[in-house]
Amino acid sequence: MDFKELRDFMVKTQLIPRGIKDERVLNAMKKVPRHLFIDESIQNMAYDDMALSIGEGQTISQPYMVAVMTELLELKGNEKVLEIGTGSGYQTAILAELAKDVYTVERVALLANRVEERFHSLGYNNIHIKVGDGTLGWSEEAPFDRIIITAGTPRIPTPLIEQLSEEGIIIAPVGDRFSQQLLKVRKSKGKLLEDYHTPCVFVPLIGEHGWKGEG
Ligand code: SAH
Repeated sequence: MDFKELRDFMVKTQLIPRGIKDERVLNAMKKVPRHLFIDESIQNMAYDDMALSIGEGQTISQPYMVAVMTELLELKGNEKVLEIGTGSGYQTAILAELAKDVYTVERVALLANRVEERFHSLGYNNIHIKVGDGTLGWSEEAPFDRIIITAGTPRIPTPLIEQLSEEGIIIAPVGDRFSQQLLKVRKSKGKLLEDYHTPCVFVPLIGEHGWKGEG
């Protein structure tokens, strides 16, 4: 299978027609080998227009959703980014292509261990990973210019707002357990400017400032 060709086709048919314009985002989506972030048995579906299972009851987001969230982050190349919900590490790799440093927090140790090897073999040396409750952020490394939450949450966790730089941006799927909408928050002169975007469905953000428990 020619994965490069499938990636170009994905960008042409799934991203550009739906309004993704940022050239840097489109180029990163053409470059990062999504098929290497999922199990070999489903690699033939890697560039399809859907989320896929990565085990542990978790998913790798649909390519379009990754592109939309990344575009909303307005990355120029110099940013320190915090990601909550590493999952497959695919979104992390896209961020690592477009920002200076990426700090990513995953709750499930097994997933975090798996992606650590993946980042290493793909040659990413600007990704830092931690196992823990991402709703608490990563205070030792704060502040962050950008924060992205890739799991559905009832609200933006307060620690993340505190760990965001002045003029920083947070993107998160906010809503109820089964449906959310992308919320973009910009911190500007001490105020928070909020903007709702695309409807979406993410697995739940489980933690002290997200959904409580597994139920
Ligand atoms: N961006 C990822 C999405 C993974 S799904 C990808 O495309 O592969 C969301 C991930 O968030 C899951 O791996 C889940 O375990 C993780 N998660 C849920 N609650 C979390 C929390 N409080 N802190 C860190 N990670 C969390």
